[in-house]
Parts: sequence; structure tokens; C-alpha cells
Amino acid sequence: MHTDSRAAEVLARVFGYESFRGDQQAIVDHVISGGDALVLMPTGGGKSLCYQVPALVRAGTGVVVSPLIALMQDQVDALTELGVRAAFLNSTQDWQDAREVEQSFLTGQLDLLYVAPERLLTERCLALLDRGRIALFAIDEAHCVSQWGHDFRPEYLGLSMLHERWPDVPRIALTATATDATRREIAERLSLNDARHFVASFDRPNVRYHIVEKQDVRRQLLDLLRQEHPGDAGVIYCLSRNKVEETADFLCAKGITALPYHAGLGTEVRARNQSRFLREDGIVMVATIAFGMGIDKPDVRFVAHIDMPKSVEGYYQETGRAGRDGLPATAWLAYGLQDVVQQRRMIDESQGDDAFRRRMGSALDAMLGLCETVSCRRQRLLQYFGQTLTHACGNCDNCLTPPQSWDGTVAAQKMLSAIYRLWKERGQRYGAGHLIDILRGKKTPRVIENGHDTLSVFGIGLELSEQGWRSLLRQLLAQGLLAVDHEGYGTLALTNESRAVLKGERTLILRRETDRKEKNSTTNRGKNLQPDLPVGAQAIFEALRQWRADIARDHGVPAYVIFQNATLREIALARPDSLSALAHVNGVGVKKLESYGKSILECIAEFEAAT
Ligand code: ADP
Ligand code: ZN
Repeated sequence: MHTDSRAAEVLARVFGYESFRGDQQAIVDHVISGGDALVLMPTGGGKSLCYQVPALVRAGTGVVVSPLIALMQDQVDALTELGVRAAFLNSTQDWQDAREVEQSFLTGQLDLLYVAPERLLTERCLALLDRGRIALFAIDEAHCVSQWGHDFRPEYLGLSMLHERWPDVPRIALTATATDATRREIAERLSLNDARHFVASFDRPNVRYHIVEKQDVRRQLLDLLRQEHPGDAGVIYCLSRNKVEETADFLCAKGITALPYHAGLGTEVRARNQSRFLREDGIVMVATIAFGMGIDKPDVRFVAHIDMPKSVEGYYQETGRAGRDGLPATAWLAYGLQDVVQQRRMIDESQGDDAFRRRMGSALDAMLGLCETVSCRRQRLLQYFGQTLTHACGNCDNCLTPPQSWDGTVAAQKMLSAIYRLWKERGQRYGAGHLIDILRGKKTPRVIENGHDTLSVFGIGLELSEQGWRSLLRQLLAQGLLAVDHEGYGTLALTNESRAVLKGERTLILRRETDRKEKNSTTNRGKNLQPDLPVGAQAIFEALRQWRADIARDHGVPAYVIFQNATLREIALARPDSLSALAHVNGVGVKKLESYGKSILECIAEFEAAT
């Protein structure tokens, strides 16, 4: 049989999908015919099928290398539900279980075998693989080989040996990290010299980007959760463990089911919280970036950052966890002056050498640029990854409610000269709060004590509110027109570039923060309301969800392992009255039809009888 038709047959029979998406077909064909591949696809793009289908078509077992031990059980469960023979080998298993898996592999009874890299590289495991038949190696989360990324795993460096030991077995490396530099590094370190590169568009059209100025961040967060995402599952990222705990406590006190996750919690607590997040509906996970890689929960409806991420790569990866199922999702970020000051300080105080600091510094600048831009966020984001979007997206805050800009030259001059005078005339440096007090003419004890009410700049800045001045300071920092002093605790200093502004040689156009509450109806969804489902279908959808929850509980697996929301939606719209009609629904393969077909038809019939 021609490769195309074998792959299409597997896609339809096993996965219940009618066609490949994007590059999937080309990738699958390439790997089936024995070629190596390097695949860059955004989260939710459909990477798994790129190695699962070839593993099922080619003779032997597909060996999947993944660092995500905690998720292997769910991955194997999901495949088992599809009728695929899958297993894993990792340190969570006792030796009897491992022995059984090894036997199945040796006797050719496994389609897919998930292995942690450190396990794979043991002599025992390598010898085992020698004795069986390998269809392909899939190296998932391949960016873990990159030493500059925050997910670096030293064991990944050892994986280049796969090629030497099994030169004829095709390898496919996959990642959602988009930069060219990472791609080159992966190719080099994994010896993927002849691999074909498949770079998908990194746009996630269903994710709405929304970046706001931090004011009262807890209230802002609560508004987001209550008004736009009531009852939805989501992730809230914080920079520190403390903030994770505090935020989770705060949300719980407000009646939201929020769980904490950070590296300081015991393994068991982390595993339990992760498992609840995956299995229960509508859990909000409050986490450091230790959480999330490989989490393939499809119905995460929002990702919120209440601290500014350190880089655009990080931001993109983290927000990418929203809306894997292709349905509308929100990426929300609140950032403020304090974030900028704190992160600049962290870079200055970090252990690394100058080159390291420079790299961190420019990563932060790019992130700030994204926050401060007055044009389409998505265009800016994609541009960062070397891709172009020809039109403004219409689905980010800047597109939906365009921000205003204003000429901030004079205001900036006032601020810069206040900083200049204090330093030149008195040898003093201050942080944002005190500088703003001086400009706004506030006679605080500190102002009086230091005689700052006698400065010529005292009280010359009434035209801006305190918030307005903070916004200005942030933008000056973002543009390098102001620096956080190395020695002082968050105090501000002029830079070489400040001079041009002070001398009036440079005009500054700044972003004006207005109260940009979105009144767009699609964002104000009610509890668990599915976008675009007619009312009648909505009720069936709810009935099917209930049905799914019961089954998932019985089987001890996350609900999406039984059926994803996208599939339930299709069923709710189609209201099939026979198994053959149900078989046409995307996501209903042969095995699932056999396992659940009757039960679904009954659920629908019962619903129709009752209404
Ligand atoms: P990634 O690993 O790239 O984040 P997944 O492999 O988890 O993405 O796929 C994302 C979602 O898209 C899953 O729900 C998957 O079932 C679905 N999907 C992938 N490929 C197809 C396809 N060809 N047709 C329909 N749904 C697909
Ligand atoms: Zn846009």
C-alpha cells in the first residue's frame, strides 16, 4: 500500500480524524519512508500524530523519549482508549511492571513505548532496544537539549548516540519552541544533520492576547476570572513561590477552586494538584513556571501572568498552554513598573558573566517591547519568531480597543531632570515613589526631611496622576532612557541615551493607559458556555459532559482522554441516531465507537425523550 493511504487509513480508523492538518501529512510521509525530521509546531498544532501515525504504520515499536514522567500514565491511558498498544518505562514503576513492559516490547506487542531519557541511556535499556524492533525514535520536547532555555535537561545531550547506534531508524524531534537559534541548536546537538525541518506557523488564532497595566492586580485577576472565565480551567503564573501560595489562598477565599504548584511543594502534593487539575473540571492552577510543560489538557481556557515573564519565548510557551482544543482562550498578562525594576535588578545581581547578562537583558527588552507596543500584539509576537502576519489580527487587546498615544517628551524631561538634579546637586538617588511625590508636589515626611520641596522640580508634574507617572517611568525603562541603579535598591539613574531627551533632541511618543475594559460580548461568557453552540445543542453538550465525567471517573482517567470537548460539541450538533452516523464525527475512531457508541446513543435518546 502507498504510504499516503496507509497513514490516512490509520488516521481515520484509530484516531477518527478525516484529514491531516497543516504539515502533518508531509511529516508523516517523510518519517514513514525512513527520513529524519525536526518539527516546530505551536502547542495544540498536533505534534503527537506526527510520530504516532508513523509508529503505527511502520513495523516495530515507536520509542518516544520524553522528560515528562508524571504525564506518561495519562498519555498511555489516552492511547489505550484508542486501541493503541502503548506502555512506558520510568522510575515510577516497580520492576515487575517494567519487566512486563520489556517482554511486550520484545515480543512485538507494543506500538508505542514512552521512555524517560535517563532511563533510555542506561545499558540495560539500550541492550533491550537492541533485541527488539524499533519503528522510530520520537524525541519530544526537543528544546530540552538547549542549554540556554529554561527547560535544559543534561540527559538530552546523550541522545545524539541514538543515531550512531541505530543509523537506520528514523528520528523525529519535536518542540513548540519557535526561535531559529533553538532550532539550530537542536539539530546540532541531536546530530540531526540530514533531518528535514518542518516549521509551522506559530500563530494561535484562537488565543486572545491581552496585556494590562498592573493596578490592583488581585482585583484585576478576580475580574478576569469572574467576568470572562467563570468555571473555566486555567493557569495563573507567578514568579515566586510565596506569591503562588498567597494568590491561591486569596482565590480560594473568594470561592474559586485554586491549587498551588511550585518546586518547593512535596512531590506528592504536586502530583495530587496536577492530577486534580487534569481530571476535574474548572480548576485554576496557580503556579511558577515549574508547571506546565507537556500538560496536554486541551480545555485550558485561560493563562494569566501576574508577573511579567522574563522573555517572549517563555511568555509564548506558557500562554501556548491555553486553548489546545482550538476553541477560544485568553492569554492575559498584568505588568507594572515594579516588574521592570525587579527584573532589571535580578539580571544585574545574577551570577552569570557579562554575555549572560546581555542576553537576559535583551530578552527582557523584547518582552517589554511586546507589553508597550501600540500595534497588534500577535503581529509583534510572530515577528519576534521571524514570521509575518500581513494583517492586524483583530483578536488582541490592541486590535479590539486601540490604545491612544501621546507626546510624552515634556513629561519625560521633567522626570529626567528631577533625577539629574538630585544626583548632581545632592548625590542622591531615589526610587519611583519618591520621585513621583516630588514631581506631584506632595509634602511627605521624606520630602520635607530632605528639603526636596525646595527643588525647582518640586510640584511641576501635576498634569499626570501617580499611575500616569508610573506608566511613563516604565516606558522610559523599556526604551533604555532610564536604568535601574546597580547599587541602590531599585533606585533610578540616567543612561547615555537620556541626554538626547533632556536636550530636546528626541521626541517621545508614549502609550496612554486608558481604562480599556472590554465590552466585547464574546469575552463575557457565562458559566462554561460553549462558544457558538446553539441553545439546544448546548443542553445536549452538558448531558454528554456529565456522561463523560461518570465514565472518566470509573476509568480513573482525565475526561478528555475519553472524548475531547471538540468531539462532544460535534456530537451535540449532529445528534447522531445510529452508530454509523456517530462514526462520522471527528474524534470517534473504531475503538471508541466500539467502547462508547451505544452508551452515547442512549445518552442522546434519553435526553431527547426528556425534552
Ligand atoms: P501538540 O502536541 O502539538 O500540542 P496535540 O498533538 O496534543 O498538539 O494536538 C492538539 C489537538 O489537536 C488534540 O486535541 C488533537 O487530538 C487534535 N488534532 C491533532 N491533529 C488533528 C487532526 N488531523 N484532525 C483533528 N484533530 C487533530
Ligand atoms: Zn491584534
